[in-house]
Amino acid sequence: MQIVDVRTIPLSYRCELPYGSAGGMQQRRDALLVEVETDEGLVGLGEAGGPLATTQAVVEQQLKPLLLGEDPLLIERLWQKMFLRTRAIGRRGLLMYAISGVDVALWDIAGKVARLPLFRLLGAYRDTVEAYASGGFYQEGKDAAALAREAAGYAALGYRAMKMKVGRNPAHLTQSNLREMQVDPERCVVSLEEDLARVEAVRKALGPEAKLMVDANCVWSPALAIRMGLAMEPLHLYWLEEPVATDDLRGSAEVARALSIPVAGYETETSLYGFRELIAQGAVDILQPDVSRAAGLTECRRIASLGQAFNLMVAPHSFSSAINLVASMHLLASLPNGLMLELDQNPNGLRTDLLKEPITVDHGGCVRLPEQPGLGVELSQEAVDRYRVG
Ligand SMILES: [Mg+2]
Repeated sequence: MQIVDVRTIPLSYRCELPYGSAGGMQQRRDALLVEVETDEGLVGLGEAGGPLATTQAVVEQQLKPLLLGEDPLLIERLWQKMFLRTRAIGRRGLLMYAISGVDVALWDIAGKVARLPLFRLLGAYRDTVEAYASGGFYQEGKDAAALAREAAGYAALGYRAMKMKVGRNPAHLTQSNLREMQVDPERCVVSLEEDLARVEAVRKALGPEAKLMVDANCVWSPALAIRMGLAMEPLHLYWLEEPVATDDLRGSAEVARALSIPVAGYETETSLYGFRELIAQGAVDILQPDVSRAAGLTECRRIASLGQAFNLMVAPHSFSSAINLVASMHLLASLPNGLMLELDQNPNGLRTDLLKEPITVDHGGCVRLPEQPGLGVELSQEAVDRYRVG
């Protein structure tokens, strides 16, 4: 079997109201799907993260020429070829995002050839994964009471775990470069006290048993992260996500040592080598590679194996289309150290409308893996046409 084409499908969704994290406000959600076609008519599907047109150029101009005519089932060899032939301009970031999309598409083909859903092809540890509601964003007019109502809504849907945002307090940032990280720093700003009150209100709404996580999106200094973390310790948080800048490994390790709350991260890191440093320096207690950024299922499974050698769990970051979501489900279900599935609660047609059979959560907050071959899902052509851009 040979690869005869590599194509991309850029998709974009615009929601009604902007919402924000410590990193910035957003109203648009993009996803770049990648299709790899073989001479036997099989088409594999993946998703690559990053800015649409830029990642698209990398996939089509850098990676496609390396793939045409190759056997799609030599996934490891093709992964190494893509990684090594682009090493001078790659190794981290955008190139890894592009490789991710191709890698998942190759695995989708392998699953279809083997007639097995990916999680089973990869050695299945479970066929159901626990999901957490990823919400609690900042929004104009959303105060602590509104946030508590949002949290109670997730609990009513069956979720037993929820993540919310913290850190939109630019006045307290002491490192000048961290200010540069924030888009729209003047909107939806809260004081440190208000931030703590919001987390407290959500804990109250969820009750003591639910898992509650907070995400600072890399903006705090280590000192501020420790101060806020200590203040939140009585609220029994399940993890504190990306407390400090991705490259401040020593700072993140300081936070991890100072707090009883586990530190999770970093969705902003890519590749086995990136995660090797996070692990080696004790910068994280929970690993959060993203299948559409960290270089695909191949690399995320390597990251997970390295994590297992250090008794670390994996909770893949997933905040994009249904294709990224379902790839994350297969990764999680294949791992002995898989923790929980991130299920974004913001309005996003690329997550909710893109599949003929959408992913649903049962009343226990769990998601069952599809049993069809490969990723096990089919795109709705109508939805693709509706959201396609460029
Ligand atoms: Mg995050």
